[in-house]
Amino acid sequence: MSAQIIDGKGIARTIREEIGRDVSAFLEDTGTTPHLAAVLVGDDPASSVYVRNKQRDCEAAGIRSTLHRLSESTPQAELLELVAALNADRETHGILVQLPLPSQIDETTILDSVSPIKDVDAFHPENVGLIVQGRPRFLPCTPHGCQRLLIESGVETAGAHAVILGRSEIVGKPMALLLIQKGQAANATVTICHSRTKDLPAVTRQADLLIAAIGKPEFVTGDMVKPGAVVIDVGINRLDDGRLVGDVDFEAVREVASAITPVPGGVGPMTRAMLLRNTLTAATLQSESSA
Ligand code: NDP
Repeated sequence: MSAQIIDGKGIARTIREEIGRDVSAFLEDTGTTPHLAAVLVGDDPASSVYVRNKQRDCEAAGIRSTLHRLSESTPQAELLELVAALNADRETHGILVQLPLPSQIDETTILDSVSPIKDVDAFHPENVGLIVQGRPRFLPCTPHGCQRLLIESGVETAGAHAVILGRSEIVGKPMALLLIQKGQAANATVTICHSRTKDLPAVTRQADLLIAAIGKPEFVTGDMVKPGAVVIDVGINRLDDGRLVGDVDFEAVREVASAITPVPGGVGPMTRAMLLRNTLTAATLQSESSA
């Protein structure tokens, strides 16, 4: 069997166009252009590329974006001051602090300082709490992107056994929270695995839906996948030869799975599209609360 390749790039393009239309309608209704502030601390090349791409996406969708660049040696207090100023700025609707931050800065302290109604990454504990309770304000971008890929590809998740590799706050944990909710592309029975999981292949082989988010190049091999499973590869790993690969051995697993996302061109573009959606949601919430 050769799996259906889930075209994240194409699906994300359609979603960005959809958001572009919604942004135009919002502007017509309210006279307001949604505005995302991106904060980049230091010169990490990958982070710079991510932020540049996010800004480009904003521009194409009619969303204003402003980049705040701070040096690698920025003290935590200075970053907190910037976030406080952005929280207070009525013309800024969404705030994105690009991770990772330099070691003198505590990530949790910074992420907690972002106003929950401007928290377009959905990292603030108030927003995480709302997700846990099944009444989200913002959906976390990467898990939401994965969920939308499942919807667009017609994957039935109700009653399916979903196995998630990775328990990070950004991907693994919120992915599990979305999949256990009631609703579309949800209602799954979920297992979360991590570095202490015993006999991992025995667990992954039970998965109808396997989501890999561990940051280990081509870790998931063909013998770890149940024939016919749907495989979503969140991983982004740069090899020494410059190639970008996921956490899944794509060539081997595509022969076993029924559907699979490629890297690049799978989850990555979806994550970026969902950030645009959250920025528009943030602008909408703020215009309603000031009306
Ligand atoms: P983290 O490093 O924060 O978390 C990795 C998780 O994988 C941890 O829970 C860790 O377990 C688990 N893990 C590590 N090794 C193993 C192993 N051998 N067996 C089982 N579990 C293991 O990573 P992130 O969640 O932030 O990112 C994961 C990957 O996804 C990365 O490649 C990242 O670049 C990519 N990514 C892609 C995005 C996209 O848009 N496509 C967005 C965000 C991330 P433990 O907790 O026990 O240490």
